[in-house]
Amino acid sequence: AVVLGIETSCDETGAALVRDGVLLGEALSSSMDRHARYGGVVPEIAARAHVEFLVPCVDRALAAAGLGSSAVDAVAVTAGPGLATALHTGVAAAKAYALALDVPLYGVHHLAGHIAADVVDAGPLPNPLVALIVSGGHTSLLLVRDLARDPIIHLGDTLDDAAGECFDKVARALGLPYPGGPALDRAAHGGDAGAVAFPRPLTGRADAPYTFSFSGLKTAVARWSERQASAAGVAAVPLRDVAASFQEAVADVLTAKALRACAEHGVGDLLVVGGVAANSRLRALAAQRCAAAGVRLRVPALRRCTDNGVMIAALGDLLVRAGVPSSPMDLSACPEVFLTGAMIEPVPLP
Ligand code: ATP
Ligand code: MG
Ligand code: FE
Repeated sequence: AVVLGIETSCDETGAALVRDGVLLGEALSSSMDRHARYGGVVPEIAARAHVEFLVPCVDRALAAAGLGSSAVDAVAVTAGPGLATALHTGVAAAKAYALALDVPLYGVHHLAGHIAADVVDAGPLPNPLVALIVSGGHTSLLLVRDLARDPIIHLGDTLDDAAGECFDKVARALGLPYPGGPALDRAAHGGDAGAVAFPRPLTGRADAPYTFSFSGLKTAVARWSERQASAAGVAAVPLRDVAASFQEAVADVLTAKALRACAEHGVGDLLVVGGVAANSRLRALAAQRCAAAGVRLRVPALRRCTDNGVMIAALGDLLVRAGVPSSPMDLSACPEVFLTGAMIEPVPLP
């Protein structure tokens, strides 16, 4: 079955076609440059851009696959979580395609999509696996069995900021350009990660082994750079060393907790996904620590880490092949929804 996947939860408009684990065609547009002057994603601007980009994106994905729309056998769409107006554009379009083509509709969870992102490159997911999801809005350690069929078990989440949010806020505090995560990664290149000993929040805590907290780290970096700026006569620490030290603290906490989860649950496979999985230091430290612990590490290629249509098409394809029932046609976008499984559970209308 050919599955059309649609992603519009934030500022990326993505469409892709997947059949039996094989990527047939994809297209991606972004409104990122339209948000740069505001220093963050403006929901109304993102939603208007999706309206503008979505149909051309689907057409480009179909053209890349050499298919007409009549070849589509199912439509999968991110139904949550995300920006409400952005999600609604994708869900409305997906329903229109499903109705017009008379094919089933699958409303899926965006984070389950991140987990499925590299199935088209790396093959089926190991079962079971520990998944570390690190993105702009989420930081979670999960125990995943069959992604399409089984409930997802949360081992721990963040108490406050997400890892990506922390990258973005620290980048802004250090005067780096938007978007902050990639800019900080570049700024840290060649820096001394041991220059500043930033805190490792909630590590070594037996009562919260898998819980994360990043707001204190963000404050620590901001305080530290303020003190630097006002400390006359003190040799300034180069920006690259501060950036590298911050990045080290985040990568250290994330990988330590992820490997502890693997060890405690006897799981031999770790999957690191979401936008922050693009971070070079996180990738390197995860590889090093997994090798030392005898854990197989799977991290998607860079372009599959951030939001895209392929991850949604790949997840839809898993659902179709697993024979999971499709969503009702009164599916609605769910801007805030906890990750319990691949599908967004239908929310009854009031
Ligand atoms: P969510 O998936 O939680 O709904 P989102 O869709 O906005 O949120 P993604 O697109 O998955 O998030 O990831 C974007 C986040 O990843 C941003 O916070 C961005 O700064 C961060 N990011 C991207 N590349 C890097 C990098 N190289 N280093 C660190 N952070 C990065
Ligand atoms: Mg994004
Ligand atoms: Fe995302």
